[in-house]
Amino acid sequence: MSEAKRLATPVAPGGRIGILGGGQLGRMLALAAARLGLKTHIYSDERDAPAFQVAAEHTHGAYNDEAALAKFAAACDAITFEFENIPETAVSFLAARKPVNPNARALAPTQDRFAEKSLAISLGLKTAPFFAVNSADDAAEAFARLGRHGVMKTRRFGYDGKGQAKVASAEDASRAFLAFKYAPSILEGFVDFAFEASVIAARAGDGTFAAYDPPENFHEHHILRRSTVPGRLSAAQIDEAKSIAKKIGDALDYIGVFCVELFVTKSGELLVNEIAPRVHNSGHWTLEACLTSQFEQHIRAVAGWPLGSTKRHSDAVMENIIGEEAADWRTLAATGGALHLYGKSEIRPGRKMGHITWLKSG
Ligand code: AMP
Repeated sequence: MSEAKRLATPVAPGGRIGILGGGQLGRMLALAAARLGLKTHIYSDERDAPAFQVAAEHTHGAYNDEAALAKFAAACDAITFEFENIPETAVSFLAARKPVNPNARALAPTQDRFAEKSLAISLGLKTAPFFAVNSADDAAEAFARLGRHGVMKTRRFGYDGKGQAKVASAEDASRAFLAFKYAPSILEGFVDFAFEASVIAARAGDGTFAAYDPPENFHEHHILRRSTVPGRLSAAQIDEAKSIAKKIGDALDYIGVFCVELFVTKSGELLVNEIAPRVHNSGHWTLEACLTSQFEQHIRAVAGWPLGSTKRHSDAVMENIIGEEAADWRTLAATGGALHLYGKSEIRPGRKMGHITWLKSG
């Protein structure tokens, strides 16, 4: 494999940032880049990608179309992505041509739940107990070792509760493995958490680190419903959450914004649930409540600019607008909150259509 390119000098205003993926995250990244005088080029395999509407250039192509990827790379000064399940081959192909951040080495452990949790443990962080499951027998054996109810999850390609099943017996665990069509999986202990939280942080190429105040998150049907900041975390837990993110960012030599999802247990422990190598839904409130949003921060990091201030000037509540709720945009527009609609052409059940943030000045 050829050497990954590194950014020698910052991308100056007028330069072009390539973004793989054209959903709402790519769209909000493109809008933030525009504010800094940077152009964006979105690459997506979706014909009608929401981010295409707000970017200077776009390419509609498959993630394994090397001719299209080569042309895209040639048109960009630096490249990033808005979702983690990009084929490794596409990332390496692009990285041989232009600086890609976060780099492929940082991406790999976040694409696999077993590697992700193992990384957390190797850094001295805490997670729910977990076991690798590669066969129906493994599933039953893992359940016996866990000794209580748990959650089966596919190692790869799970999101918003997809590829997950609650299990209360060895038979359930084996059945879930079969339902996952034998995909390599993990069995994880069920956490009876007090609440969920996340920490959104950024790391620049020179190792500079900055974290936002961690929000408390509430999920419904496995989809994020609401993020509230400040949430119920104590001052000590806020510091701990930020230091967890710093350890992970440093270990991955990470460049860009990332999110660590946490379970806060009833005894006050913070357990690492998931690491997302990208801007995150639970950080959308930073658009209105912080001097530098998570989107601008990510663009700054991948363009080689200094990180901006993560200072929060207001308390905030962010609610997702999901599926049919978007049809009621007139009511939503009159609530006094900051309304974001993602320009998706079709409403589908469970689809994130937009979000709304309310501020309470502190
Ligand atoms: P994940 O895809 O791992 O982030 O899971 C999505 C959501 O499912 C989490 O935010 C939790 O609300 C719930 N969940 C996942 N794993 C567990 C667990 N081990 N114990 C309790 N709830 C869980």
